[in-house]
Amino acid sequence: MSAGGGAPNRSPHAVVIGGGVTGLVAAYEFLQAGWSVTVHEASDRWGGKIWSSPVGDRMVDAGPDSILFRAEAGIELCRRLGLEAEMTHPVSKVPAYLYVDGLLHELPAGTMFGVPTDLSLLETSSLISRAGLERAARDLTLAPPAPNARGGARADMSIGSLCRERLGDEITDKLIDPLLGGINASDLDRLSLRAAAPQLAAAIDNHGSLIRGMAAVREQAGATLGSAADRPVFFSLTGGVVRVIERLLEELAQADLRLYSPVVDLPDGSPATGVDRAGAIVAEDRLQADAIIDTRPPRHGINYASVSQVTMAVPVTVLDEVMDTSGILFPRIGGTMLTACTWFSSKWPHYADPDTALIRLTSGRYGDDRANRLDDDTLVSTLRDEVSPVVPLHGDPAAVRVHRWRDALPQYEPGHLDRVARLRAEAAERDPRLRLAGAAYDGIGIPACIGSAQRAVRELLEP
Ligand SMILES: Cc1cc2nc3c(=O)[nH]c(=O)nc-3n(C[C@H](O)[C@H](O)[C@H](O)COP(=O)(O)OP(=O)(O)OC[C@H]3O[C@@H](n4cnc5c(N)ncnc54)[C@H](O)[C@@H]3O)c2cc1C
Repeated sequence: MSAGGGAPNRSPHAVVIGGGVTGLVAAYEFLQAGWSVTVHEASDRWGGKIWSSPVGDRMVDAGPDSILFRAEAGIELCRRLGLEAEMTHPVSKVPAYLYVDGLLHELPAGTMFGVPTDLSLLETSSLISRAGLERAARDLTLAPPAPNARGGARADMSIGSLCRERLGDEITDKLIDPLLGGINASDLDRLSLRAAAPQLAAAIDNHGSLIRGMAAVREQAGATLGSAADRPVFFSLTGGVVRVIERLLEELAQADLRLYSPVVDLPDGSPATGVDRAGAIVAEDRLQADAIIDTRPPRHGINYASVSQVTMAVPVTVLDEVMDTSGILFPRIGGTMLTACTWFSSKWPHYADPDTALIRLTSGRYGDDRANRLDDDTLVSTLRDEVSPVVPLHGDPAAVRVHRWRDALPQYEPGHLDRVARLRAEAAERDPRLRLAGAAYDGIGIPACIGSAQRAVRELLEP
């Protein structure tokens, strides 16, 4: 990267690599600060993982369908983009289910990320056996994990190993893995406690028990938010999450936005454009800017999970019932390729339709890429078979969309925070005006990506 140079009164110039939500938010913040911006996006469209496409005659989110409501960054951005009137919440009180041991179990009350805050609330659930509950109760009396040598800070470990040690395998596999591991198609036994579940890390650090710690978090949320603690956890937009991208692009009318513009690293590490279709550098066009934000997935150091989604518009006449649920989770221990069956039309008001149920079947998780090896037709029939014990279809859907998200979800394995610090230190050494941001670094959810972009811009705007 070389400094822009030139006339003293020109506005400073930023280059953003990648046109997903992280890159577009970064570009938006630079423009708001009076900078000029160029965004290089390798593909033929904007939005990255945020994208919608038709299922039958309606546009349906193909990537994220929801944004965490309690994380300020998402709501705040939507307000700034004038999207407040379009914000919508999941239909209240529709339960979620777990499919375990051939039965549907309603998600038990009083859990946070699957961790129980009060074991007595699980006694009425058919999900966890008596032996499983007794094992979990040991968390209340077991000695806290020993701090590691570094100044009392506890070393990172997998969420799975902590939960298995404190609560036992049954609750870990049936409840915590589908909820906490399921969010990012992760394997709980390879998921970093400190990076992916800081709340659990704080619970064990501060209370010496997961149950006591998560109960305190729950109580605290109630005390802070009062009745608002009952507010929905997620929101979306009536036109789909993709509205965020559409509005950002409108705001970026003054920016230099370049599709089909992949950025590659030259042998000295400098980012450059000018590659041919095969990825070979033909022009060696080094990026010229006062600041660069790189939101590409890192080339090494972080592994990714792939997921495949089959979204079906199903006439209600071919269903036994229209289920009153946001969705059903299928834990890894069940052995299915299917990880979740989301009832979009029951979960979201903007997808409700009395004649047609909109159902999404998700497959694939870290360590399970069976779905990648199936062609679309076989994938659809396999997932339909797997879901049939709970959602039998007595006829064909009116429309089916298959979408493959290959290597889409970064996996925060133990040591992730150190790994990210190292990648950032290497980048800063290459060029102090370069920042790394996006889903691979500071959190996978949309609010975390927005926050990651905003932090990077703030750092670069500071003298
Ligand atoms: C199926 C699925 C469901 C999800 N559901 C939710 C959800 O409900 N809620 C939620 O909060 N989050 C969800 N997420 C996560 C969230 O959508 C993503 O983490 C987030 O959108 C990532 O944004 P990003 O800009 O960091 O990365 P991306 O969206 O991946 O954008 C990176 C961009 O960089 C471009 N690029 C790559 N290489 C180059 C290059 N060499 N040169 C130029 N450009 C390049 C890519 O083409 C892409 O457009 C989901 C993710 C997936 C895959």
